[in-house]
Order: sequence, then C-alpha cells, then structure tokens
Amino acid sequence: MTAQTYEVEAMGAAAGQCDCCGQPSQSIWGVVHRSGAETVASYFLQWTPGADFAAHPANLDLILGAWGEGTGAEDRVAIALRYGLGPDGPAVMVIDAKTRRIAKNPLVGAALDRDEVLGTPVAQAVFDIFDAVFLQDPRFPKEAGG
Ligand SMILES: [Zn+2]
Repeated sequence: MTAQTYEVEAMGAAAGQCDCCGQPSQSIWGVVHRSGAETVASYFLQWTPGADFAAHPANLDLILGAWGEGTGAEDRVAIALRYGLGPDGPAVMVIDAKTRRIAKNPLVGAALDRDEVLGTPVAQAVFDIFDAVFLQDPRFPKEAGG
C-alpha cells in the first residue's frame, strides 16, 4: 500500500476555537477512498492558523474502517494523530484517541491509543492515509502559520 493507493475527497471546512488556548482555529474534513473503490476513512483536521507548529501541533482525527450499507459503528475505530514541524521537517505521531472528542462520535465503535496502533498492521495504513491527505488535500497547512 502506498499513498498513491488512496484518493482523497476534500469536503467541508469550518472556523472554530482551539481547545487548548481559545485562539481562532480552522477545521477541514473529508474522506479517503481506495483508488476507484470503497471509502476506508474519514478525516478531520484542526489547527490554529498563525501559531507555531513546533509549539502548537495540528490534530488529525481519523475514523478508519468499513463504511456504507450493512456497516455500523462497531466496524470502525477512531485514531488520533498529531502533526507538527520538528527540526527535521514535518513530523506525525499517533496520540491517544480515547482522550479526543472523536472517541464519543456515534460513528465510532472504539477509540485506540498509541499502543493499540503502533506495531500493528493498522499503523501502516494510518501513515499511508496521513500521507495521502497531506499530499492531496490542498488545504492541508504545510508550514507554521499556514
Ligand atoms: Zn491552542
């Protein structure tokens, strides 16, 4: 599986407030398909424009699993990523989705923490999906203050 295996469909956007500092924040969301085939994930990205990513990373929450007719929340899991810019460039890490608002989303059966993702087959899919969103959603902020 590579990032090219996935197609990203950008959807809505909204302005809001950052949970941590109350500054104006920006949210974007969309879905990820296997090329020409079924949906595998939805994503929701929130960041604080103008803030330094190094100190104030962006959050990318994913709902990963099966979608469509005959599927339910039990077929999907929530996974939370944190995206920032480190000394070596863009950096992404898995964080605990159980503490994120997405854990309570009715579309989600379970929220995974770091240990439930890293070292499992799900991890590679998660990072490939991150790459696909990063490359294909033109709204994705790619530098501090973006
Ligand atoms: Zn904040």
